[in-house]
Parts: sequence; C-alpha cells; structure tokens
Amino acid sequence: MKKLAIGIDMGGTNIRLALISSDGLAINSLRYKTSAQEGKDAVISRLSSATAEMIAEGRKHGMVIGIGIGAPGLIENGVVRFSPNLPGWKEVPLQNLLEEALSLPVVLENDANAVAYGENSFGAGKGLSSLICITLGTGVGGGLILDGKIWRGAFGMAGEVGHIVVEPDGNKCSCGNRGCLETYASATGIVRTARDTVNRGDASWDTGNLTTETLEGAARGGDKAAASLFAGAGRYLGIGISSLLHILNPEAVIIGGGVARAWDLFYPSLSEEIKQRCFKEIAERTKIMPASLGDNAGILGAARLAFEQSAVSSQPSSV
Ligand SMILES: [Zn+2]
Repeated sequence: MKKLAIGIDMGGTNIRLALISSDGLAINSLRYKTSAQEGKDAVISRLSSATAEMIAEGRKHGMVIGIGIGAPGLIENGVVRFSPNLPGWKEVPLQNLLEEALSLPVVLENDANAVAYGENSFGAGKGLSSLICITLGTGVGGGLILDGKIWRGAFGMAGEVGHIVVEPDGNKCSCGNRGCLETYASATGIVRTARDTVNRGDASWDTGNLTTETLEGAARGGDKAAASLFAGAGRYLGIGISSLLHILNPEAVIIGGGVARAWDLFYPSLSEEIKQRCFKEIAERTKIMPASLGDNAGILGAARLAFEQSAVSSQPSSV
C-alpha cells in the first residue's frame, strides 16, 4: 500500500496542507486563513479538523503514516515556545495536542528549517550534504543543513540569517539590533530603502504603492534607481553570505522567497561581493542557486520529516 504523509505549512496568514507521497509528489492540497487573531485554541481546532479531513482523503489513496508541520517561531521538542507571527502562542505543545486529536505521529519543525529540508530532499539542494537556505520574504529566514541533517542549534535558535549584521550603524531592525541583513534584503527592507530614496529626492515613485513587484517591474523597464535597489540588496546579501561561507563552508547556498524572483537583478552584485570577500577556493566552489520548490518547500520538508520519523519508529528494536 502506498505510504503518504501530510505536510503542513503553518504561516501567520495562511495554513496550507498537502498529501505527499514518499517521492515528494503532492496528491491533494488545501489552504485556509490562519486567522491568528481569533486566538490559539481556534487556530489549533481548525488545524486539527483540516488535518483530519486530509487524513480521510489520504486513506482513499493509501496509508497515512504521519504528519509533519513547519511552524513559525522557536520550536523545541514538539513545543511552540513562542512565535512572533502567532500572537499569544507561548509554550504550546502542538505536537502532543495534534497526536492526541488525530491518533497519528506528528513532527513539529521550525518553518525555515522545513523549507531548507524540503529543498535538500526534493529541490535545488537534492543530494547535497550541506547547504544554507535563505528565504527572502517579509523577513529574511534561514535554515542550515549540515552533514545531511537540520542544524537547529543548542536550543532551536540556529539559522537566523536575517539577523546577522551587515552594516554596524545601519537600519533599526524589528529584533532591536541595527544593520541586520533583514532590514536591507527582505521585501520590507527593499521597500523601506525605496521610500528613503524618494525622500532624498533621488526617485519619484508613488510611495503609497511601493512593493517589490512594482519596483522589480520598474527595474526591468529600465529604471536605474529601481535596479540599484536590488543591486544594493544583493550587495548586503553577498556580505552576509560571505561570513556564513567562511564559518560553515557549505556546498551550496539556496535562495528562495518572493524577492528571489528578481534573481537576475540582485545576483550580479551578490556574486561580486563573494568574489571580493571570500577565500578564492570558497568563492569558486560554493554553488549559489535559486530555490526550486517555491511555496511548497516547507510542506515537502515537513512531510519528509514525517516519513523519516515513521521509518525510524517502525524499525525492529535491537534489544
Ligand atoms: Zn535583526
């Protein structure tokens, strides 16, 4: 009988579920609003009933072996310790709650780690044993795969690529620090730089309607100031990535998220920084590539974790 897992990407805005086969194919999917403002109990109860619906669907196609969830925030041992994207979530034992409600094994992972693992299992980083995955969205997320495994750090805080400092006295970040990569290379950061450019009188974009999509369109239409916003983001990415490469020496850096659609606009300056700043061996041999799974990376990574957990727990005991 075909083995299936439910992969879940739990975001602050949307929750997406999919029925995934062991080779990473989505058989069925479902999306609905998180409505986090209704409180954690309402979110968990909706998540639980949507998952039950997906399990019932899965049983028509094969055997559902478990559930993998990528959730935002600090995740430790199946517990959401806290989450900036899910107001009111503190020490929520989500894994246990869902296991009790659904009677199937559940794996809970940080969302950025799930994305990195998805790209490593089925996407641009397939077959690699070490990589850094960076997601350029509203913020800048990061996940590390070292020796084929997710590196979570001592207490689940590893991979916060968005908060490495690339400009000592730079922009104030939501984390309280200054000059974090996120304040320059996220969608929010690029729009903020665009607004500063207008305020300085160096561009005349409509500040009421600034998004990375409109700016990308302007850049592609020949607007030099718009193009330089992406080049600037690429430069800061290159500075941040250079430090990471010297510390970790991964085989690849994989960059995804909405902003990564502007790859050709930021990659040349990113690459130039790496060439200028890194040891030659590192600059020449590290692959820097776009992510390939888009929005599905987190779901696929979470499902893969569910498959792996199931394989471990079904092995005969050695004692
Ligand atoms: Zn920060």
